[in-house]
Amino acid sequence: MAAPESVRVKAAVLYEIGKPLVVEEVELDAPRAGEVRVRLAASGVCRSDWHMVQGIHPPPLPVVLGHEGAGWVEAVGPGVHHVQPGDAVVLTWLPHCGQCVACRAGRPTQCNEVAWSDLGLMRDGTTRLHRGELRIHHNSATTFAEQTVVPAETAIALDASIDVRQAALLGCAVMTGVGAVRRTAQVAPGRSVAVIGCGGVGLSTLQGAVIAGAAPILALDVVPAKLERARRIGATHVIDTSQPDVLERVHAIVPGGADYVFEALGDATTLDLAVRLTARGGKTVIVGLAEPGTKLVVDPLGLTLEERSIIGCFYGSCVPERDYPELFALCRSGSLQLSELVSSTCELEGINDAFARMARGEGARTIIVYPDD
Ligand SMILES: [Zn+2]
Ligand SMILES: [Zn+2]
Repeated sequence: MAAPESVRVKAAVLYEIGKPLVVEEVELDAPRAGEVRVRLAASGVCRSDWHMVQGIHPPPLPVVLGHEGAGWVEAVGPGVHHVQPGDAVVLTWLPHCGQCVACRAGRPTQCNEVAWSDLGLMRDGTTRLHRGELRIHHNSATTFAEQTVVPAETAIALDASIDVRQAALLGCAVMTGVGAVRRTAQVAPGRSVAVIGCGGVGLSTLQGAVIAGAAPILALDVVPAKLERARRIGATHVIDTSQPDVLERVHAIVPGGADYVFEALGDATTLDLAVRLTARGGKTVIVGLAEPGTKLVVDPLGLTLEERSIIGCFYGSCVPERDYPELFALCRSGSLQLSELVSSTCELEGINDAFARMARGEGARTIIVYPDD
């Protein structure tokens, strides 16, 4: 192999928890064995990124965040054959080894061989990102940069019929939300669904509920604009949870509660609400990432007598090789409306404003659009 050449790319770097990201040029090394370099078309701005900036889930520093992206392969390292330069790809943010007990059992979201990823490193324990001598950490897909290097298995060849910019959303929000319904909870047609929190993941969960044939479908949020968006996506009823008597208003639609309640915020108050809204025999599905140490008080007798369950959903319980082609098919058929999830677009320089909008509870998903070159 020729000596690996690095490229200079614009990236948004987090140097300090709670501080604005710094948009600047950094160096990105060539992909090594089992890696792919991708030029990004777009990146979503996800609440998980914001939680890292705030230190709720602190990343190793300095770091380039962003984990929801799609783009085009620029270069592949040795041993990579499933994609080649020029291919459009969507990035999944969760690498997996394919070899461990969890992977072989068909549960790659529980792969126990990817601790290096949590440390902001590549599989060989180093980073491809740096600024001079300063090592800069990755954040899985690392999409707040014009280009990124990712583990090969996380670059999924994208169906040519799908807009590559909108496809970025498939990488986190859509896979998580649709997977929560179809894979984690396995919602049956005709059963009732309630979704608490109508951001990118919550709206995707609602889309999953529509695709699964659930009815009725209730959307709950405190922001009227998000509820309007939920209604357009297919929610049959919307509940403004800033108003009193939430339980009573939900029970007026689904007496006894909903069969499946999805909590997409990870907030102690709404987690408690989710449990209380779940019908006898139903499932409470925790999709949102709670702050470490968050407690949920549950009466176990109620779970036993009413055969209710509380289950966690990590990244939609997805098997990327199986579930991305399924999402592509849902896009092609028009069952998935990606454009409805996007509330605004900006350039990378607008990243801090995007976080500010998120903190104020505005909009669904902001998409960072990278220039063509
Ligand atoms: Zn995300
Ligand atoms: Zn594994």
